[in-house]
Amino acid sequence: MIRDNLQHVEENIKSACDRSGRSREDVKLIAVSKTKPVEMLREAYDLGCRDFGENKVQELMDKYDKLPGDIRWHMIGHLQRNKVKYIVDKVFLIHSVDSLRLAEEISREAVKKSVIISILVEVNVAGEETKFGTTAQEAISLVEEIAKLPNIVIKGLMTIAPYVENSEENRLYFAKLKQIYVDIIHKNIDNVFMEELSMGMTGDYEVAIEEGATYIRVGTGIFGERQYQNV
Ligand SMILES: *Cc1c(COP(=O)(O)O)cnc(C)c1O
Repeated sequence: MIRDNLQHVEENIKSACDRSGRSREDVKLIAVSKTKPVEMLREAYDLGCRDFGENKVQELMDKYDKLPGDIRWHMIGHLQRNKVKYIVDKVFLIHSVDSLRLAEEISREAVKKSVIISILVEVNVAGEETKFGTTAQEAISLVEEIAKLPNIVIKGLMTIAPYVENSEENRLYFAKLKQIYVDIIHKNIDNVFMEELSMGMTGDYEVAIEEGATYIRVGTGIFGERQYQNV
């Protein structure tokens, strides 16, 4: 199943790249493996996946220990400050930095462990109350503040678009994130390297690619529906 799904996703990525005049290498696919067992990640790994996305610290740590060391782990979920210390030397990129206080904690732990941590600033472009992320208005000043911290490097922006039936409805949010990204580039802020736009999930990654995504985060489209236990 994973093999067919990956092939299907790959075809869609290629068509979206063709439609928008982008090259396939400019779009990186993150296999979002939250709630899925290690065996399924192993299968995706054997099919060539090296970028995996998780949204819970404990789950990421468990899987990190059980899978090959050349995997790039992406923290894509809301991160609590008291848990930063567990993942700071394990993750390749933290996509979900939405406050100066969280960035300060990441910086502190990175200094302690003598590592440089790459992060994305999460922007709630649609202004949904239920979602984390800084507002579009505050994004630039937040980037400016985080850029002053040691051992942390801002690589770009991330957004989680609303859940919609028709992915076209999210096009304006992806375009808006891209616009904020361009505005930040024009500010030439020291220590900010705007290279990545993390946007697009199973329902809307093709539109996100057309609007400039460099990372797409696909879970259901690769691993199938998630089953959540009632807690
Ligand atoms: C779960 C999740 C995804 C993947 O969602 P799918 O719709 O299953 O592709 C992407 N990004 C974030 C931040 C997530 O939490």
